[in-house]
Amino acid sequence: MKIIAIGRNYAEHAKELNNPVPTVPVIFMKPDTALLKENKPFYHPDFSEDIHHEIEIVLKISKEGKHINEKFASGYFDEMALGVDFTARDIQQRHKEKGLPWELAKAFDGSAPVSNFVPKSKFADIYNLVFKLDINGQTRQQGNTKDLLFSFERIITFVSKYITLKKGDLIFTGTPQGVGKVNIGDHLEGYLVDEKLLDFYVK
Ligand code: MG
Repeated sequence: MKIIAIGRNYAEHAKELNNPVPTVPVIFMKPDTALLKENKPFYHPDFSEDIHHEIEIVLKISKEGKHINEKFASGYFDEMALGVDFTARDIQQRHKEKGLPWELAKAFDGSAPVSNFVPKSKFADIYNLVFKLDINGQTRQQGNTKDLLFSFERIITFVSKYITLKKGDLIFTGTPQGVGKVNIGDHLEGYLVDEKLLDFYVK
């Protein structure tokens, strides 16, 4: 199982970090050891002073595919979840300045909490889904899938041109604006439409 993540897929988030709005998807990967399930606590690593939350919609790939045509891409995922793409922003900033890869900032243990999955058939329109992240009872990030720069189908088509997607692979589809630092003791709660799917602590 692999985790593929899309960077800068909501224009307002790209702008808040002073990044250009991309014309092709920006992708990176996290290893399976990044996955954190069942709302287990996230242990704040000591190598970073600035771990940021990024709430995202996560797709679960339902069958193997390569060179997937965009017309058929919707047939390659049938479940969705919420995830947090934890990012060591201080490390990422240093690596960006030097033109180095992002792995140390993105791929560390526990950096990918993922909620239970819900069938996408539950939603009338997957391109009008409100999702949000509350920390200690205050809303920090709120997004709507109508603002995605690259649709779920386009992401699947783009990624599968380079990397075969397998059943069970996860795709983090990008975060809306409002990213910020988490601290030990924080209580994170993530909502997809009206359902609370994420509920865990930073330890
Ligand atoms: Mg992200």
